[in-house]
Amino acid sequence: MTLPYGIFSYDIASPRVGVLVDEHILDLEIVGLLGFFNDLPLDPAVFAKPVLNDFMALDKAVQRAVRDHIIELLTHPDAKLEAVHNQVFIHRSRVQMHLPVRVGDYTDFYAGIHHATNVGRMFRPEGDPLLPNYRHLPVAYHGRASSIVVSGTPIRRPQGQFPGPDQQPVFGPSKALDFELELGIVIGKPSVLGQPVPVELAEDHIFGFVLFNDWSARDIQRWEYQPLGPFLGKNFGSSISAWVVPMEAFEPFRVEGPVQEPTPLPYLRTSGQTHFGIDLEVALSGPGSEETIISRSNTRHLYWSPAQMIAHHTVNGCNLNTGDILATGTISGTEPNSYGSLLELTWNGKQPLTLPDGTTRTFLQDGDTVIMRGMAVSGDQRIELGEVSGTIGG
Ligand code: CA
Repeated sequence: MTLPYGIFSYDIASPRVGVLVDEHILDLEIVGLLGFFNDLPLDPAVFAKPVLNDFMALDKAVQRAVRDHIIELLTHPDAKLEAVHNQVFIHRSRVQMHLPVRVGDYTDFYAGIHHATNVGRMFRPEGDPLLPNYRHLPVAYHGRASSIVVSGTPIRRPQGQFPGPDQQPVFGPSKALDFELELGIVIGKPSVLGQPVPVELAEDHIFGFVLFNDWSARDIQRWEYQPLGPFLGKNFGSSISAWVVPMEAFEPFRVEGPVQEPTPLPYLRTSGQTHFGIDLEVALSGPGSEETIISRSNTRHLYWSPAQMIAHHTVNGCNLNTGDILATGTISGTEPNSYGSLLELTWNGKQPLTLPDGTTRTFLQDGDTVIMRGMAVSGDQRIELGEVSGTIGG
């Protein structure tokens, strides 16, 4: 069972914590008020909050106990939840979803090696498409938390400066608006300033995962990024899914990562099933048109694992706080229909996509909607990451 956590409101009920159970939301504030959490070592008031942060900051053991208890309440024939069904379950069509996390800091990695390779091939055709540091450390930059929005929030096309036809800068709306298919790692337990998190303990700091669309204006980005990196081409908006899937739900979907050669330095060295195998897809629809799947990828294509990203992020003593989000970087597969951005899918606009309605795209047009979804099946285990969607406005 996925049982993701989110923040919802309905009618006169203020935003509070819920768990998605098929088409219904289990209202954890009410479940707590009815006494169902009385035997657990937590204050049920954490579920009466408009963000998940207080719950995410609790010990992993407590979070696991809550999840196990909810599973027990949902599946045990004597659990008595059915007797109060109308009090604790709300159909999802009745609710409004909110940004589930108060995001403190947002860091964007570049751990999708096929994405990094494609970008290198495009812009540095001579030599190795990967820069010399790529296989030695998880490359990242600090992003902007203030503009992270929940799925469904419209995205306004950014204005900025970028090179015109004669390479002199012009000002206007971006002509190269793109998406980036990423996974967002939501930090639960904070780390201590000055104390690196060992890679083998790094997963203790992960509360869960969200789908993450790191909207990007390629023309603004290309003009501004040297020498200090991405800025206005990136920080106008990033969208996350409304439901945060707890780390525990990912356990059945562990996979081994790619062979890391050369062997990373000791503080980044891990082995075993450090990665996850979650199927991802990107759908695009134009104004008034049906959606079409334009990419299918998988989180196993990440070179660096979430634990390695955390170990690297903290190795210099930088601390992580509850509610921080570390995005993985664009997750492209090896095949052209598995690329996680229009930059790659259209090879920098040189190979436009044709949609079922006959229109073509190099980059996003006003009125376009991008929907990213994630799910995985393993035997009788299944998880759904839900979706993150956003429509471009002018
Ligand atoms: Ca990105």
